[in-house]
Amino acid sequence: MINVHGVSKSFSTPDIGAVQALKTVDLAIGGSEFFTLLGPSGCGKTTLLRLIGGFETPTTGSICIAGIDVAALPPQQRPVNTVFQSYALFPHMTVAENVAFGLRMQKRPERDIETQVATTLDMVRLGAFAQRRPSQLSGGQQQRVALARALAPRPNVLLLDEPLSALDLKLRKEMQSELKRLQRETGITFILVTHDQEEALAMSDRIAVMHEGRILQVGAPQDIYHNPANRFVADFIGEANLIPGAVLHRNAALTVAVRPERITLRKAAGMAGRLLGRIETVTFLGLDTLYEIEIANRNRIRVRLRDTGAGFDPGQEVAMDWAAEAERELMQ
Ligand code: ATP
Repeated sequence: MINVHGVSKSFSTPDIGAVQALKTVDLAIGGSEFFTLLGPSGCGKTTLLRLIGGFETPTTGSICIAGIDVAALPPQQRPVNTVFQSYALFPHMTVAENVAFGLRMQKRPERDIETQVATTLDMVRLGAFAQRRPSQLSGGQQQRVALARALAPRPNVLLLDEPLSALDLKLRKEMQSELKRLQRETGITFILVTHDQEEALAMSDRIAVMHEGRILQVGAPQDIYHNPANRFVADFIGEANLIPGAVLHRNAALTVAVRPERITLRKAAGMAGRLLGRIETVTFLGLDTLYEIEIANRNRIRVRLRDTGAGFDPGQEVAMDWAAEAERELMQ
């Protein structure tokens, strides 16, 4: 559905000179995929989204959408719609008029518009709110109107720029499953921008992890979680203990990543585990308990255990173990 080939983007500003927001990026996104661009602030994810939407022009490279090179097409002529972080609803229009907006621009017959508005409002569960104005809705409801407005013309691709960031945690979780359901029901390709790794893991078919204008890894959530390509990805996705070590027969230094939930604890009592340490803090998290453990050279290991009640206490010496397959060697 989308082919990004050799795309880079530099901004030149009079005061700070050139900023390379995106280094050379290649990316292929399939039809009906829920695809997420994930990375920390400033990594270039919004820039990539805006290039696909046609709000920016690439410095180098080309972008094809549904088989067509879109270089010459302005945003409204691309088979793409965008949901902005701010919702950007028209305040003077009713919910139904907001949702009808894109269909009117396409000059669809009035009867089609009515049916499509009703179907789409039902889809986002706002059928009963058609005659209200945006100011008479909650934040979550406004978000649904923004979604309905973008979905109503049935674009091939929907771009979502941090669409849930203004919602509180409970509503955000609810909207995550709503978005997933809407994507499945419509079969539209969704491209989501977020810096929230939990959100990315929960919703996506595939994720591209970005850092400093580059894509570091593309894969399914399980893939990226269990087989991070490098240190940055291991650290950014979920939590990882990055343990410095060495391969003796190769005489080479390396870093090993182990997830906190893959480590088991025993009372040390003179026995050797893979690592020995002393419990610093114990944090009860509901289902799990998180232990922070100091090992040699003031390094820290985090261990997450299902709370069995057989707790360990701060100050206690413990031995840590994990299965060989829980460990990933990382490139720097
Ligand atoms: P955030 O999560 O904070 O929105 P992001 O990953 O979406 O971050 P971008 O907005 O794509 O990051 O920005 C990438 C880099 O490009 C940043 O260093 C940013 O300052 C710079 N940048 C973005 N837009 C412009 C612009 N119009 N002019 C100059 N620099 C820009």
